[in-house]
Amino acid sequence: MAKILDGKALAAIVKQEVKEEIAGLGIVPGLAVVIVGDDAASRVYVNNKKRDCVDCGIKGEEFALAADAGQERLLELIHELNARPDIHGILVQMPLPRGFCEQSVIAAIAPEKDVDAFTMENVGRIMNGDYELAPCTPAGVMAILDHYGIDPAGKHCVVVGRSNIVGKPMAMLLLHRHATVTICHSRTPNLSEITRQADILVSAVGKIGLITADMVKPEAIVVDVAINRNTDTGKLCGDVDFEGVRAVASHITPVPGGVGPMTRAVLMQNTLIAARRC
Ligand code: NDP
Repeated sequence: MAKILDGKALAAIVKQEVKEEIAGLGIVPGLAVVIVGDDAASRVYVNNKKRDCVDCGIKGEEFALAADAGQERLLELIHELNARPDIHGILVQMPLPRGFCEQSVIAAIAPEKDVDAFTMENVGRIMNGDYELAPCTPAGVMAILDHYGIDPAGKHCVVVGRSNIVGKPMAMLLLHRHATVTICHSRTPNLSEITRQADILVSAVGKIGLITADMVKPEAIVVDVAINRNTDTGKLCGDVDFEGVRAVASHITPVPGGVGPMTRAVLMQNTLIAARRC
């Protein structure tokens, strides 16, 4: 039976470390959380981030715009936040409502305040392996592996999903740690043949039950990044058939309580890093 990789417990440790460091920093780090429209899931994520800020001693400030506020108003707000010395990190909750261009919005964020590490400058830095602001979810996965003494060096890591926010940067971070990395996506034929080769399997797709026990090599380490809502049970779950895969793998992250809390903890770390650089 696989050992559970407890992201929730690790996130509590990381947030406590952030809090202690902030106590000796001499300034209060400020995180601007921008939300546009009234998407229910985005509201939950923003509220969680604000709660994390309170836990860590960060001043989390919410900026809410209506869904019809328009791209120009949003860009104006970001420019105002870029100029504010008390704001060290800026996060725009994605996805944005229809009519907004996410890429232009990201591009408007000052790279030194880009605590999601989404701007071209920060993406380039990640590509080069020369970065301080890490992409939150992939960095959260790396922190979980490190905490449990799992070294990706020399291992075959298979990342399922190639999004700009999870799959691609995940592959880069693993590569920087000397893993041999394969990236799979919706056009990958024979997915199970590839996943069965993985020493470390990271799934970031968003499809319930995608990864079943027969797709996992015995004793593999399985990291489930996805967050899905099971419409039958109403519960959150990942891509991985948890009970089935647990019987085959050596380690597995649960959903909830795995990568999600660590993503949030890395955001707090990034805000501290951005504030420290001022
Ligand atoms: P995207 O929808 O942007 O990307 C999904 C990826 O999965 C795409 O690359 C897509 O391929 C690939 N894919 C789709 N279907 C298949 C399939 N049948 N087989 C193999 N690959 C497939 O999602 P995100 O990367 O933003 O998020 C992925 C999941 O992670 C979601 O469930 C999301 O909620 C969750 N998430 C969790 C976070 C956390 O903190 N734990 C943070 C961010 C996201 P293609 O490119 O070809 O379309």
